[in-house]
Parts: sequence; structure tokens; C-alpha cells
Amino acid sequence: MKVADKAKARKAVFKRAKGKCEYCGMQLSLATMTLDHYYPRHLGGGNNRANLKCACTDCNNRKGPMHPFHWEKAMELRA
Ligand SMILES: [Zn+2]
Repeated sequence: MKVADKAKARKAVFKRAKGKCEYCGMQLSLATMTLDHYYPRHLGGGNNRANLKCACTDCNNRKGPMHPFHWEKAMELRA
């Protein structure tokens, strides 16, 4: 993905998420948000916006390359 495209995707995803982490709901800014691949690249997840989530660094680090199914389970346990 080109840098310009990435910046565009960042903004679009940020807007869609209303500036909040889509996992824990923390309010973020464009500077603090990270783009998370919901389906990790190695599981065939692409750079399409449907697969990109607005996430805080914490959630992104915790999720890492986890399969979404396991991640959802981990989230349930945390809630
Ligand atoms: Zn979060």
C-alpha cells in the first residue's frame, strides 16, 4: 500500500469508528490510532477498509496476529 493510500485509509477508518478504538471504545486521535488488520495478513486479510479497524495501541498489541475468532473470545473474557 502506498503511503498516501495508507493515510487516506487511516482517515476513513478513523471517521467510520468516530475516533474510537473499535475494540475497547477508547477515544483516540489520528495521531494515536493504529490501523489493525481484523483478519491478519497471514490469514488472507487484505488492506480493504472493511478489514481495517481503528484500534488503540494497547488493543492492537494484544491482538497481534491472533485470529479474529480467538480475539473475540479474549475480548468476551475481558468484559
Ligand atoms: Zn482499544
